[in-house]
Formats: sequence, structure tokens, C-alpha cells
Amino acid sequence: MTDAPRHDAHRNTGTSDEHRAPPVPVLAPADRPTVSFELFPPGTTDGERRLVGTLHALEQARPDFVSVTYGASGRTRVTTRRLVTQILHTTSLTPIAHLTCVDTSRAATVAIIEEFLDAGVRSFLALRGDPPAGQVDWHPHPEGLHTAAQLVEVLRTVEAERCARSAAQVVRGLVKPLSVAVAAFPRGNHATGGTRADDVRALLSKQRAGADFAITQVFFDAPSYLALVAEARDAGVTIPIIPGILPATDPDRLARVGRLTGVDPPRALMERLGGISDPEAQHRAGIGATADLVEAVLAGGAPGIHVYTFNQHRPALDLLAATRLGRLPSNLTASPDHPSVP
Ligand code: FAD
Repeated sequence: MTDAPRHDAHRNTGTSDEHRAPPVPVLAPADRPTVSFELFPPGTTDGERRLVGTLHALEQARPDFVSVTYGASGRTRVTTRRLVTQILHTTSLTPIAHLTCVDTSRAATVAIIEEFLDAGVRSFLALRGDPPAGQVDWHPHPEGLHTAAQLVEVLRTVEAERCARSAAQVVRGLVKPLSVAVAAFPRGNHATGGTRADDVRALLSKQRAGADFAITQVFFDAPSYLALVAEARDAGVTIPIIPGILPATDPDRLARVGRLTGVDPPRALMERLGGISDPEAQHRAGIGATADLVEAVLAGGAPGIHVYTFNQHRPALDLLAATRLGRLPSNLTASPDHPSVP
């Protein structure tokens, strides 16, 4: 684990110039890898209340954006939009709305996109989505879209039609361009039985449809991510691919995510975490293992990291603090009344 120096590295140590330790370089804002967080719309009032504190804590890390998930089959259509607009209007964060299309007609999808755009949302993560869990006789909507690439195309078309209808919309689009992210799968998409080669083909079609960048599914070894990027580049994918990182602080959650995604956490990591009974020590060990993963993907050229927070700020912020991402440049550090930068 990297013992990352922090932004107080230039503190005067009182030693003479000759003996002073060389100053640790502080990353210029443009050189800082991107930091972003995934959140989900809480299902309870208590969850909503706690999320306000989490948003405030995450804000101190000055993330480049936060993304908000969309429940399978549009289950959270209203709550996703509500949370995205809450973030837009009550925080300094830039929200990205996840959107799925597999279970809705094209017309309904267009209406949902219009609702989000009307609410001022300018960034989307376009997904196909999965069939509802456990529904064996499920079929995609007969008048629906079948792939995320088609959804990217529809997002671009809706925006173009809005601009064609209104010159004001053209100006707004120039000031705040529509950005569209997509998903990528370092180990292949297990939910659809796809291999990494299938995913690279899908990623290329998403790029051709107008995707701006990709965020990956969870993975636990840097070579999977680096191989996906290398294969994607060979195939002609040029958009940035941001690794999705799950802080490995909770073995039960790792096991659940493994079952859900088909990406199993390494047995050695599970055994190591499972063998630590003190929750604090387990947390530190998990942060250390995840920090190593983050440093490896950044060293391999990743543009930044997207942290799966599960609406908990402490693992996400501790992870940043344990990596070079905790070394904020002075103009990005917290203001005195918000002093909680890790
Ligand atoms: P697609 O890329 O359309 O892929 C679907 C299938 O078609 C794949 O098997 C793919 O290999 C294949 N395919 C598509 N195009 C091609 C092509 N040109 N050539 C060959 N094969 C092709 N789900 C939710 O319900 N809500 C969320 O908020 C959500 N957020 C997510 C965030 C991230 C970062 C990730 C990685 C996943 C998320 N998911 C979410 C899960 C996602 O919806 C599912 O994994 C879904 O199975 C695939 O979505 P997709 O967008 O990759 O679809």
C-alpha cells in the first residue's frame, strides 16, 4: 500500500535548505486523475436523510462527478430523477443519471429522456439493463431498444431534435454539452453470458453511436482492466475507460456483488478479510488491498477511478486518502468551514 504524502508536504520543517527533504510534488489540477462516485436512490426516508450527510462528505473530495443508478426495469425512474435533481440544485456535485432501456418502449424511453433533460440533467450513463431478477418468462419490450448503443443513439437524437426546435436550446447545449457514458466489462458481461471480446465489440458500437466515455464493472485484479483497455484500443475504441472500484472493506458485500455480477472476489482476499475479527482492522486491510488495485490501474494509464460507494462515504474517502488521489492540490482542498478532506 502506498504511504501517500499529503498536501501539507511543503510545511516548513525548520531544517536548513541543504537538509530539508525534497518537496513532494503536489498534483496540478489538470494532472489529478478523475475521482467519481456511484450512488443509488435510497428506498427509505432514513436512507434519504443519511444520504444528505454522505453527499456533503463526498463533496469535500471535489469529485469530477457522481452517478446515480436506475433500478432494473425503471423501478426507480422517479427516485433517480429526484436524487439527480437534488444533487444538481443543492450541492456543488455534477450528477450523471444512469438510464436503462430494455423493458420500455422507444416512445416511453424518449419521454423519460425528455423529463431528465427538462430537469436540467446533461449527463447520462446509457445502459441496456438486465431482465427483472427471477422472471424466467421475461421478454424485452416489443417496441423497445435492444442495446445500450441504441440508447446512446436515441439520447443524441432527442438532444438534436430539441436543438432543432429551439435556438435557446442550441445555446444551452453549447454551454452545457450533453455527455453520454456507457458501461464496459473487464471480465466480460456475465449477466448476458458475454466474453470480453463480445464486450469490446459492444463498446465499439457504443462509441460509434456517440458515447463519450466508459465506466467499468467491478473487478479485483488490475490485469483484467488493463487487458480490456488494450483489446479495446486494438479494436479502435478511443474513448476513456474509467475503472469502477469497489472498496473491499466488507466481505459480505464482496460476496453479494460477486453473485450479482459473476465477478468473484479473489479467494485469498476473502480469506484474509474473513480472518480479521476486529472491524477496524478489517476495514484497514480492505482499504489497503483496494489502494494497491487503484495504484496499479493508475500506473497502467487509467484516467481516474469511479468508486462504488453503496451510499457510504467512509470507505470511499479512506480509499482516496490511502492513494495518490488523497493528495489534493491546494486550490482543491476543503474550505475552512468544510474541513473534512481525508
Ligand atoms: P449492451 O452493451 O447493450 O450489451 C448487452 C449485451 O449485448 C451484451 O452481451 C453485449 O456483449 C451484447 N452486445 C451489444 N452490442 C454488441 C455488439 N455490437 N457486438 C456484440 N455483442 C454486442 N443496470 C441497471 O439496471 N441499472 C443501473 O443503474 C446500472 N448501472 C450500471 C453501471 C455500470 C458502470 C455497469 C458496468 C453496469 C450497470 N448496470 C446497471 C448493469 C447493466 O445494465 C447490465 O450489465 C446489462 O446486462 C448490460 O448493459 P450494457 O449497457 O452493457 O448493454
